Amino acid sequence: MIIQKTAEEIELIRESALIVSKTLGMLASEIKPGITTLRLDSLAEAFIRDHGAVPGFLGLYDFPNTLCVSPNAQVVHGIPNGTPLKDGDIISVDCGAIKHGFYGDHAYTFPVGDVSSDVLKLLEVTKASLYEGIKAFRIGNRVGDIGYAVQQYCENKGYGVVRELVGHGLGRTMHEDPEVPNYGRKGSGKKIIEGMVIAIEPMINMGSKSINHHSDGWTITTKDGMPSAHFEHNVAIVNGNPELLSTFDYIYEVLGITSYEEQPFKS
Ligand code: MG
Ligand code: MG
Repeated sequence: MIIQKTAEEIELIRESALIVSKTLGMLASEIKPGITTLRLDSLAEAFIRDHGAVPGFLGLYDFPNTLCVSPNAQVVHGIPNGTPLKDGDIISVDCGAIKHGFYGDHAYTFPVGDVSSDVLKLLEVTKASLYEGIKAFRIGNRVGDIGYAVQQYCENKGYGVVRELVGHGLGRTMHEDPEVPNYGRKGSGKKIIEGMVIAIEPMINMGSKSINHHSDGWTITTKDGMPSAHFEHNVAIVNGNPELLSTFDYIYEVLGITSYEEQPFKS
């Protein structure tokens, strides 16, 4: 059942989502060759707690950390460890926070040092596909239209769209109805309704869409060993249209990036 949120509840989810946005912004200045993902994890946990929130992933389904950190061929759900990042890596960082009983949950894939242009293109296309998905999230459409938009955009460029992992409704729990796949048929799935809040999160592979599950019970990697990217935003339906509750602006500020892609979806 899709839980419609009131305007007040949407503001609370926004507050949690923005704590995640700021956490990712803080991490943007730390992500460079030599830093370990465990160090990033402890910085993130302290930052979230300093902002009066609690890490959303820590302990959820028994996940052991604050961040999911997934370098290179890892798709999602990587566990922080003591291996330093290397020049030319990419690292997908997924983070959750809970405050006033509501979750925020979003993600960004960062280049580490100098990254090859074909891998940078994967990041660019995956991020652009997220905004294609957000555009399709509006009254009059169905959930399948979001996946259709993401899938078309990425497959037309020759990338693999992961099937087994999906976006989701978001609120008092991290994963609510509906599931939001990154593939789908136009006009299929549940109706998009006012007050709906979801996480849209394309997970896109440079090669084939096939994945492997690791024996640690968490880490997912591409079957062909090629890189994978993951970008995620939290979005609400307000007056029929998508409104972003999270933002990459804090990351862009650190990285010196000028971007207008969020503009149409800001309140
Ligand atoms: Mg996430
Ligand atoms: Mg999510």
